[in-house]
Amino acid sequence: MRPRLEDLPIRDDLRGMTPYGAPQAPLPVALNVNENTHPVPKDVADDILDAVAIALRDVNRYPDREFTLLREGFADYLGHGLSADQIWAGNGSNEVLQHLLQAFAGPGRTVFGFAPTYSMYPLLTRSTGGTWVAGERGVDFTLTAESAAAQVAAARPDVVMLCAPNNPTGTPLPIDVIEAVYAASEGIVIVDEAYFEFAPAGERSALTLLPGRERMVVSRTMSKAFAFAGARVGYLAADPALIDALRLVRLPYHLSALTQAAASAALRHAPTMLAAVADIVGQRDRISATLAALGYRPYESWSNFVLFSGVEDPAATWQALYERGVLIRDIGLPRSLRVTAGTEEETSAFLDALASLDSAS
Ligand code: PMP
Repeated sequence: MRPRLEDLPIRDDLRGMTPYGAPQAPLPVALNVNENTHPVPKDVADDILDAVAIALRDVNRYPDREFTLLREGFADYLGHGLSADQIWAGNGSNEVLQHLLQAFAGPGRTVFGFAPTYSMYPLLTRSTGGTWVAGERGVDFTLTAESAAAQVAAARPDVVMLCAPNNPTGTPLPIDVIEAVYAASEGIVIVDEAYFEFAPAGERSALTLLPGRERMVVSRTMSKAFAFAGARVGYLAADPALIDALRLVRLPYHLSALTQAAASAALRHAPTMLAAVADIVGQRDRISATLAALGYRPYESWSNFVLFSGVEDPAATWQALYERGVLIRDIGLPRSLRVTAGTEEETSAFLDALASLDSAS
């Protein structure tokens, strides 16, 4: 008989855990993991390919361990007077978050977040040996400065994870809440802005709060707005001393030469890469309006997805959509489902399939 996981001498604190497991099904319309479903424009893809081909010539050597060019690219892209020594990057923002928790959380320490929030936060916390502590949200998953600060002050966590806007709910996080949480805590405050590019134009990023707040980190990803999920590139901005702490835990040469070349080339085309954002935001708002007209309850979203409630039997609706070739996400919230905004055609396919079910309650 093949050995089972439970029979292995696995770490006690990993026993009984379930891995991250959003289904990867080959359906024609996949709107379940908040990807950008608009493909990378062809001329940009060609240029990235050229950059990767050049990097390939030196692939017998280890890559630049400090990914200097890429850090400069991210500093330029983010603006706000940031310089390369304030930037870190990894294979997706998941890895960047893992580096943060390896350095600042771990055994005997706590990581705090307001539930429901990104499902990887508790997983990353536990896999790095720390303890996850869940705080509460108010009406419609919102947070006020008073409540957030009071909860953080009471929990005294080593690390606070703020998801702005929040996944899986899409809820915006007002800047005054971030300021209040920082003031109420003595630990590291991570603001995960994975979906920031989808927020209304002119909204303030937590990047504006970084000066004078040396315990604050703002993380971003190329997986969403940049349509680069398959390349696995995430990054963050923070004080140079905090970045030094991350050098202690990263694996040497963690960002491959091919990844660095591809990401730097993509960043050079940032405006083109981001051109689809306006369309995605339009589709997101169309989803919300149509869901409301169908009798569902969409929550306000500043991201590229919409959480909606009023679903009588989420598992059944999920399955019925699946059978119609549309993959969305059942994130386990009562009477709720989450859908990513796709292209106009994909979005129509989802809305039409849902309308044909008529399962709003
Ligand atoms: N943060 C949030 C809030 C996310 O939703 C995701 C992806 N679903 C990530 C981080 C990680 O993305 P990646 O590792 O692709 O950068």
